[in-house]
Amino acid sequence: MTRVLDWRVQRTPSDVTKTSMPYVTSSLVEAVTTCPKWGIIHNVQHKRFVTGYRQMALEAGSVMHDVFAAFNLMQIAAVQGLPDHGRFHGVSLYGEHRFEALSFDKYLELYKQNPSRALEKLAVDVIATSDFYDDENDRNRTLANLEHCAFELAGYFLSNLSRFPIYIEDENDPTKTIGVEKSMDVIFTCDVIGEFNNPYKEQIRFIGLGDVLYQNPETKRVKLGEYKTTSTMGDGWREQFRTRHQQSGYIGALQAYFPEVADECILIGSALPVRKTSAPNMHFPIHRDREAVGNFLTTALFTLDVMAQYRDEAAIDAPMFTHSCNRYFRPCALLDLCSAQREDQQVMWEQMIISEEMSPSEFKAFLRKE
Ligand code: SF4
Repeated sequence: MTRVLDWRVQRTPSDVTKTSMPYVTSSLVEAVTTCPKWGIIHNVQHKRFVTGYRQMALEAGSVMHDVFAAFNLMQIAAVQGLPDHGRFHGVSLYGEHRFEALSFDKYLELYKQNPSRALEKLAVDVIATSDFYDDENDRNRTLANLEHCAFELAGYFLSNLSRFPIYIEDENDPTKTIGVEKSMDVIFTCDVIGEFNNPYKEQIRFIGLGDVLYQNPETKRVKLGEYKTTSTMGDGWREQFRTRHQQSGYIGALQAYFPEVADECILIGSALPVRKTSAPNMHFPIHRDREAVGNFLTTALFTLDVMAQYRDEAAIDAPMFTHSCNRYFRPCALLDLCSAQREDQQVMWEQMIISEEMSPSEFKAFLRKE
């Protein structure tokens, strides 16, 4: 038995680079615990078969995250009265050329007369300047459906979310941190109880990207907001967040940056595509205490242990959780590998290409290291 009993967290020192200390992300932990063979080959080794296959859910989710971030920047500029903060972090998030193409200042003017029209126009520009294009095999995640989803989010944002003040480190200095896409790079030091009740300490480096941070103006307490898109919004979708490790890890990690972090996260969801039969958007609180963060860290330790056992070509022999071979109603991308003879798997594994691409959150977390 291995269990994290208690933990402390600190920011990763600046002399620790991307490669000098291994790290986990919540998606890596999820992948390895979904199927160790999949998680290690796909998320740790970054090995891929050469296919034309696109990860449409990830791509569309990433575009909607860009839309959500743009709405938050507009909120900082127009509602919180800090246009320079909106502009500075807009350039940092989208890059100079793309931010210029978003006509942020024009829509900031329009916001004064017609906020919903301003957000809708901003959303159209964010989507149009993304890399997303339609795929003939996916009729749900299309440019038209992304726009529809973004318009619904704009209305919902103005009626519900614009009353939450977004964290601003320094109102007089736009270059300081704001609570939009907050990168986190931390080291948890864990008190662990191991085999034969042996206590020991373990360090886990964790990287993540919080979508939005709100701050109570009186107590100064910071609260995480997480944005998600889903094709099936309903009670089942909502319930999964009662235990989801990602938010536990983020709430723990934020404590390295802020003295007061709420043990609650606001989960904000958008349905993509928008359907007539269910709500297009919802938001609700989820709670996480120290024990929940400890549960995440216990799972992260398990993940690291599995990763250590199946390094390099040993990954071929990692446990196969075959109940995951058809998750989300799609065959796993490693199905050809796993259904081949062991001796053939060796050759196939060697011929797979290594993708240098980081996940969108890893990429942004390292880009915006604060
Ligand atoms: S095909 Fe199944 S067993 Fe193989 S990696 Fe994917 S989920 Fe795991």
